[in-house]
Amino acid sequence: MGAGDYYEILEVPRTAGEKEIKKAYRNLARKYHPDVCKEAGAEEKFKQINEAYSVLSDQQKRAQYDQMGHETFTNASKGSYAGGGAYGGGFNADFSGFGDIFDTFFGGARGGGPRGPQRGDDLLMRMQIPLEEAVTGVDREIEVYHTEPCEACGGTGSESKKLHTCTRCGGSGQMRQTSQTIFGQFVRTAPCTECGGKGQVPDKVCKACGGSGHSRVRRKVNVHIPAGIDTGMRLRMEGYGEAGDYGAQNGDLYIEVQVSPHNRFVRSGDNLESQVEISPAQAAMGSTIEVQTIDKRTVELKIPAGVQFNTALKIPGEGVKRRGRPGDLLVRVRIITPRQLSDEEKELYRQILVIEGKKGPRSEKKKGFIQDIMDKVKDL
Ligand SMILES: [Zn+2]
Ligand SMILES: [Zn+2]
Repeated sequence: MGAGDYYEILEVPRTAGEKEIKKAYRNLARKYHPDVCKEAGAEEKFKQINEAYSVLSDQQKRAQYDQMGHETFTNASKGSYAGGGAYGGGFNADFSGFGDIFDTFFGGARGGGPRGPQRGDDLLMRMQIPLEEAVTGVDREIEVYHTEPCEACGGTGSESKKLHTCTRCGGSGQMRQTSQTIFGQFVRTAPCTECGGKGQVPDKVCKACGGSGHSRVRRKVNVHIPAGIDTGMRLRMEGYGEAGDYGAQNGDLYIEVQVSPHNRFVRSGDNLESQVEISPAQAAMGSTIEVQTIDKRTVELKIPAGVQFNTALKIPGEGVKRRGRPGDLLVRVRIITPRQLSDEEKELYRQILVIEGKKGPRSEKKKGFIQDIMDKVKDL
C-alpha cells in the first residue's frame, strides 16, 4: 500500500483542527482495528492511521510535517539521519511512537498470536547539547545502563544452556482467556505463569542471573547526533535497549535531545540569528565589518549604506549545517548612538545638523548665561 499524505490517510483537510483530527482518527481506528476488520490490508491501513495520527495530533510534529512535506518528513523518520554506531547499531530521528497511542487508546488490548519470547523493552535517555553542537552535529560517547544476555548461561537462563518445553502451556507460552471490550468479545491469551510466556524453562536455573538470562551492565555507546537536531527530537539506537528473552530481539535505546540556548545566537528553524552594533556613520555610509560565526570563524559582512535599525543581513550557509540544505545566519543591525563625542566629532555632527536645517538642543539660556559672564569679564 503506497504511503499517502497523512491528511489523506485521516481523510481530513489540511486545515483540520485538533478535534476534527481526533474524531477522524477514532472512526478510522475503530473501522480498521485488526481485531475488528478482517479486510485484506486492514492491519497495514491501521498502522498508517496510527502513524498519521501520531504526527498530526502532536502540534510540534505536525508543524514539522507541514514544513518539510510528506516525503522529507517520512524519509527522515526512516533514517536519512542514519549513521554508524561503534557497535554497528543504526539510529535515526524518530517521529513515530504510535505504540503509546495504541496502548492508551485500546487499553493495551493487543491480542493476537502466540506470545513466545518477548522483545526487550525500549529505553529512553535524555541528553543536553549546546546549540553549536546542534548546528554542526556531534559525536558523543554516552553510558547506557541496560540488560544484556547473561555471560554465564549465554542468555538462556539455564546453567547447562539447555531449555525444555514448559509442561503447563505445552510450549505455546500462553493461556487462553475470554474478555469483553468496547469492540466486542475477544478471546485473548495471557502469558503462561509457569514459563512467563517463553514456552521454555531452564533445565537448571543459572545462578549468575537467577534464570532470567540477563545481566545488568554499563556499556559505553557512541552516538552520532546529526546537524539540525532540535529539542524534543529522539534518536533511536536499534538494539541498545533492554535485552529480549532468549531468542528474541533487544529493545531500542531512544535518546531525547534538548538543545540549550546560546548567549549570542538564537535558532529559528535552520537559520541562526545574531546581532551586531554599528555607529550612525556606518549605518548612513555603509561599511564592511567582521562577524563571528557560531563555530567561531570570522566572516566579512557588508553593511549597505542607509541600513535601518533591526534590519537582518543574511550570511548564506552559516546557519544549521544540514547536509545539502544549510541554513543562513541573519545578523540584525543595532545602530548605537555614541554617548561621548570627541571635539572633532562634535563639530562634524554640528555641521550635519546645520545642513539638515535642524536645531541643536535648547541651550540658549545656558549659552546666554555664559555669554553674560564673558561680557562682564570683557567689561572689567
Ligand atoms: Zn508455560
Ligand atoms: Zn545466566
